Amino acid sequence: MGGMVDACFLGPYGENDALLEKLVVEFLRDHVYWRRNFHPADPPAIPTSAAGQPGYRQLEARMRRELHQLSAALKQSVPFHSPRYLGHMVSDLLLPGLAAQILTLPYNPNNVSEDAAPVTVDLEVQVGLQLARMLGYVHDPAAPDCAFGHLTSGGTSANLQALRLALALKAFPVALRAAQVPDIALPDDDVAAFNLGSTDAVALLQSWNEWLGAQLPAQQRRWRERVQAQRLEQRGLAAFFDVHPSLRPPLVLAPATAHYSWSKGMKLLGLGRDMLQAIPQRGMRLDADALADMVEACRNSGQPVLMTVGVLGTTEYGSIDPVDRICDVRDAAQASDFGFGVHVDAAWGGYLAALFRNPDGSLRARGEVAAGFQSFPSPAVHAAFAALGRCDSVTVDPHKLGYLPYGAGAFVCRDHRAMGLLAESADYVFHSQSPAGYLAHYRNLGLYTLEGSKPGAAAAAAYVTHKVLPLDHTGFGVLQRHSIAAAEAFVARARHLVADVGDVAHACIPFEPDSNLVCVAIAPRRSRTVAAASTFVRKLHDGLRSDPRRPLQTHEFFGSVTTLHLDGLDSDDRERILGELGLDEPGADDETGLVVLRHTLMNPYLIDHENGISYIDLYFEYLEDRIRALAG
Ligand SMILES: *Cc1c(COP(=O)(O)O)cnc(C)c1O
Repeated sequence: MGGMVDACFLGPYGENDALLEKLVVEFLRDHVYWRRNFHPADPPAIPTSAAGQPGYRQLEARMRRELHQLSAALKQSVPFHSPRYLGHMVSDLLLPGLAAQILTLPYNPNNVSEDAAPVTVDLEVQVGLQLARMLGYVHDPAAPDCAFGHLTSGGTSANLQALRLALALKAFPVALRAAQVPDIALPDDDVAAFNLGSTDAVALLQSWNEWLGAQLPAQQRRWRERVQAQRLEQRGLAAFFDVHPSLRPPLVLAPATAHYSWSKGMKLLGLGRDMLQAIPQRGMRLDADALADMVEACRNSGQPVLMTVGVLGTTEYGSIDPVDRICDVRDAAQASDFGFGVHVDAAWGGYLAALFRNPDGSLRARGEVAAGFQSFPSPAVHAAFAALGRCDSVTVDPHKLGYLPYGAGAFVCRDHRAMGLLAESADYVFHSQSPAGYLAHYRNLGLYTLEGSKPGAAAAAAYVTHKVLPLDHTGFGVLQRHSIAAAEAFVARARHLVADVGDVAHACIPFEPDSNLVCVAIAPRRSRTVAAASTFVRKLHDGLRSDPRRPLQTHEFFGSVTTLHLDGLDSDDRERILGELGLDEPGADDETGLVVLRHTLMNPYLIDHENGISYIDLYFEYLEDRIRALAG
């Protein structure tokens, strides 16, 4: 739809200043009327003459002075809004989100509970349902197995929430056995209970809830306490494994490309980093055959697995793990009584799922998604997105590809009934099967989330944005379409660079991108070591990174770097990349971390059709000049 994207952002030049200003002023006034209309007969507590008092004037002057200084200092900020910014996972902010957030701030709702946020706590639960729909989960709150999602401070705490929930689900059947709950079909032994798998564990939890609901109140309390006393969350890891000697702490299997939040999570959970095991990758995508072998080895040695993590859009290369094949491995293991959870870390790539959805919520075929792209989505990428609904939980960051202000990550789980296990009070009985009942149940969000007080304004921003730009290919997908198209244009242009600078340097794209992050490796011809190539790229990056000592305007472009660890690559990838860069195989004592340029293609104006400017072309012209200056 022509012009739609043009109304989405403040714009590189602040083109939509009048629109944003109008919205902010209109709703600020609206807020003031709301204050006045609470008890309009209460007289103003701040006297109308106050503004003339010396103390008032002094404070106002101090406030202005500090705000001016802040505003001046902020001019050193990184210009995320500009199509010259190709660095990290951030771009301009969506106007509907920004306006909704500014509108909501003076009301200051706290989404910890409905008491402090009668409106925005519902919006947060709705955001969870909006995201669930995009991911292919059941999203009808009247369905017993409806999904549930909530916002978090970011992807890091959403991933931690996934670990907590997987551990709770894994350990709960063991607690039910230990409490000797009657009348429910329980697994035969502790090992079977621990390896039940999440779907069966949720079903067991449900049976227990129904059984409990049928007891008299006094019995209910007694049984609840009895089960609670056996839970891992009550006993702690040490005591739990002490009283269940046939069990061992479980492993988490995550690809080598996983974000460092997984290591943080393992430390915080008390499992420890040693229990996080790297799944081998090929071309920066999880190797599903290797995963199957790892799972088989775990099963044979009696080593339980908590969950397997797949990444949908790796932080470094934007590569997409084969989510469908991860689920296949899980299903096969489950069929032989070795269950574990599957979580997809889609902090980066989650919103790309909008491209794969029709407005009616159905999945688009690969051919439909592919129309207008050169190669996106590959069959493997399409299969990965199509399989999201089979995963137990997903992390999505609205503050990344959702173009919303920071402080907005999201955790979504497939079956909301599991969430009861995270509840801080033992209220894990869920009866109501109506949308109103579902919403009412989650109004005390703080019982389930890691965070306590949390910004209702972030929920308002996400909700309004998803209403204005629905999470399908005609809404949010239009933005993602620009981003993928820009990435494809970027890759094509990078191939030119390889030829253009061939007389002074070697360059290559180390891994074919699956989405909209593109890395470029460069090595000057005059040296053949990995260390020298890294030094060269660091020098290039010196011109591409924010440096508060230099005026902003002297920065032509912004980019980022990452280190490609050759040791983690399989021999094919390693030989290919070293070969394309004309580098020698590093010796035993040589540096094996290769620094490469990393680019995030998020800005919708990277190709400016209005003025016939391609910032991608300009960037590569700049890069070629710099390469010649440094390599010559
Ligand atoms: C960014 C990112 C995270 C961490 O998210 P924050 O919002 O920075 O906490 C986790 N996983 C992946 C794949 C990411 O890209």
